[in-house]
Amino acid sequence: MPNDVRYVSTRGAAPELGFTDALLAGLATDGGLYVPAQWPALPPRAPGATYAQRAAQIVQLFIGDELPAATVQRLCDEAYATFSHPAVVPLVQLHHEHFVQELFHGPTLAFKDVALQLVGRLFDEVLRERGQRVTIVGATSGDTGSAAIDGVKDCANVDIVILYPHGRTSDVQRRQMTTVSSPNVRVVAVEGTFDDCQDMVKAMFNDAEFRARMQLSAVNSINWARVMAQIVYYITATDLLAGPINVCVPSGNFGNVFSGWIARRMGAPIDQLVVAANANDILERFFNRNDMSAAAVVPSLSPSMDIQVSSNFERLLFEMNGRDGGLTAEQLQRFRTSGRLSVETDQRAEFIEGRFQAARLDDTETLGVISRTYGESGMLLDPHTAVGVGAVAKLRAAGTLHGTTVTLATAHPAKFPDAVERATGVRPPLPPHLADLFELPEQCTVLPHDLAAIKQFVSTTFR
Ligand SMILES: *Cc1c(COP(=O)(O)O)cnc(C)c1O
Repeated sequence: MPNDVRYVSTRGAAPELGFTDALLAGLATDGGLYVPAQWPALPPRAPGATYAQRAAQIVQLFIGDELPAATVQRLCDEAYATFSHPAVVPLVQLHHEHFVQELFHGPTLAFKDVALQLVGRLFDEVLRERGQRVTIVGATSGDTGSAAIDGVKDCANVDIVILYPHGRTSDVQRRQMTTVSSPNVRVVAVEGTFDDCQDMVKAMFNDAEFRARMQLSAVNSINWARVMAQIVYYITATDLLAGPINVCVPSGNFGNVFSGWIARRMGAPIDQLVVAANANDILERFFNRNDMSAAAVVPSLSPSMDIQVSSNFERLLFEMNGRDGGLTAEQLQRFRTSGRLSVETDQRAEFIEGRFQAARLDDTETLGVISRTYGESGMLLDPHTAVGVGAVAKLRAAGTLHGTTVTLATAHPAKFPDAVERATGVRPPLPPHLADLFELPEQCTVLPHDLAAIKQFVSTTFR
């Protein structure tokens, strides 16, 4: 029986696509994000299934017959063999009824590896079959760049150029990008800010001729395949803990927590989804007070959550609007002009009350959680994970969160050693596979903040 999985845009005015086209497109032509036309039901876990086997079973539901099962299994096996823990995403108990799911055992020590190791391989496979190549261009302030580079560094059909602001990332973050020695990887230090880098990437995508000639592509967090790959660990947590469980997610662009929403929609026994925020609390205000109003970004100790407009929230909004793309587009347009968004009482009753909770922590509270957790259990938490652990503690103290809860650990403590040392006096060492990070030679091109120079570099560096 053919299994034709279709994807629709959250703004309702772009053509429906199959999985492969949605993967390569990233953003839909109407500016919307792709979601499957229907949510599949969760199949039971085969006894003894490994993480990679459960992953292949689940992602196949979203790929349909565009890739054979043996191929999907091979790509999952390869992607998750890059993780340095045999359980891939181990569950560790922190406290009475509180577990941490460590998503940071991938090559670059952040949870983004879970998706990008698979997405890079999916890109390479479908491009090889079609006889095409793409050039991925992206801007990074730290984590995403290294995870994207690592995900595609062995791909024959993908070139990647990552721009970062010269002198403005941590040494670990920079070296994780500049020490990758692959013929298809280029790292550019731009003499400018992160926003300058991002604006130049947008300008390249907005230049239709350049975009087509270079076959530009993106792997940012709105790409459907990233959201898809993240569904799996919510499901394996419920498999192992035999649910119902709550899951707490240190959140930024809302991609990770939306993956949890999908897992629950498919039937995984997840009770509450807890959105944890730092001082950039637009999501917390929306969930607790129906107030989504953009403010200026405040730098924090958990920089990967320093986001004001969460791009993946659009996917939840589409669901809350009964999948009415026209209405969703209208609401987002109003949000862009007025800076505010709120939803109807009945939408909140159906989608939010009793389903989502939210809490925020400032930097002082975050350091307190890292210190207290280390004192209680000897576990070192990175600042992003600490925001999640602290959010659970707050909601339990308030009497709103009950039962077994899993907090997603989104980064390895050694990725943010300064904050961890400040809170505990202990500087977490890099794991063995990165121990030589500070000895490897760096390769990087410094370019001015000048679009013409960057375009010239992108178009000539690989050919
Ligand atoms: C990207 C990132 C986040 C935020 O994830 P979203 O999917 O954008 O909500 C949280 N923590 C870390 C360490 C990250 O790298």
